[in-house]
Amino acid sequence: MEFRLSDTQRALVGSVRELAQGKFRQRGLRWMDGTFPWENIRELASLGVLGMSVPEEYGGMGLPVFETALVLEEIAKVCYPTAMAVLGEAGVQTRVIAKYAPESIRSRILPQVCSGDCILSICMTEPHAGTDVANYRTNAVIKGDRVVVNGAKTLISRAEEAGMFVVFTRIDGRPGREGIGCVLVERGTPGLEVTGTYHTMGGENLHEVQFRDCEVPLENLVLREDGFKRLLSAFNTQRCLNPSISLGLAEGAFDETLRYVRDRTIFGKPIGEFQGARWKLADMYKDIEAARGLLYRACMTADPFPDPFLAATAKVFCNEMAIRVTNEA
Ligand SMILES: Cc1cc2nc3c(=O)[nH]c(=O)nc-3n(C[C@H](O)[C@H](O)[C@H](O)COP(=O)(O)OP(=O)(O)OC[C@H]3O[C@@H](n4cnc5c(N)ncnc54)[C@H](O)[C@@H]3O)c2cc1C
Repeated sequence: MEFRLSDTQRALVGSVRELAQGKFRQRGLRWMDGTFPWENIRELASLGVLGMSVPEEYGGMGLPVFETALVLEEIAKVCYPTAMAVLGEAGVQTRVIAKYAPESIRSRILPQVCSGDCILSICMTEPHAGTDVANYRTNAVIKGDRVVVNGAKTLISRAEEAGMFVVFTRIDGRPGREGIGCVLVERGTPGLEVTGTYHTMGGENLHEVQFRDCEVPLENLVLREDGFKRLLSAFNTQRCLNPSISLGLAEGAFDETLRYVRDRTIFGKPIGEFQGARWKLADMYKDIEAARGLLYRACMTADPFPDPFLAATAKVFCNEMAIRVTNEA
């Protein structure tokens, strides 16, 4: 297996790195209060990277999982809220629209995803059920050519900015995991309301979203009941993109640590010349490179979706590694 980047991959990473290191790094603290990083998003849109997961016929780049992970890693090195915002445009919600929405929705929404004019929000988690999908209570009832959604979602990213909510919901009250499908709800639909905001340590705001008799056209029902099972393989992509942000975070923390131990002197020499500090740095480096190996290997199995075991392993390892490395930093 070859881990060397191709010239095209290097060029892509290089242009994102230049923007991130040149501009995003200085602006990093601006978004820590939950402010959405619109300025960064517009600049990334002009590079084309918001359309990484959008097929080329809708103005996107249609990139494989590996390239998408490399871009997110680069952004996360300097700005976690921006990386999370880009994940919103490059994540599973875009793939759901690209694969399952009717042409009328695809051709209207996907070009706006590329330009950053339509931010996407994915609504899965409910107040009483996160991982436990089989117990979701949100329900969508089909009434002729309309679908009426009722329920509450929580811990939802980008709900204040989203133009489109990709909502995983029970269809016609059918019980269990098999009863879960997906409905697209656009901002401005009567009955859709953002009712709560939780500020997170990472800077990003998460929200509670209510759907009260939210009525949308039947074409917005993009996955009928039992559709969720088909979607599970697409979630393995998310299991590679999420840890790419953790990898970037750890690398960013490591870079800052190196700068500090070289600059800060004590007892007449830089901290980095003491063996105790060097051992820590060696452990951090080892952890980062082990995570990179797992993640890149998982990404490279994607055809189009990554191997589920490698993707899950990479996700757990990278996320836990990022906690260890940032704590040490
Ligand atoms: C930064 C951030 C952004 C997020 N953005 C979104 C978003 O945009 N959209 C969205 O829908 N959600 C989002 N979430 C929510 C996230 O997806 C949920 O946290 C996740 O689904 C887990 O749900 P939960 O927190 O309810 O915990 P759960 O996974 O439901 O766990 C609840 C409890 O059960 C335990 N548990 C879980 N599984 C098992 C098991 N198999 N056996 C025994 N015990 C178990 C857990 O340890 C925990 O104590 C976000 C979360 C974060 C932190």
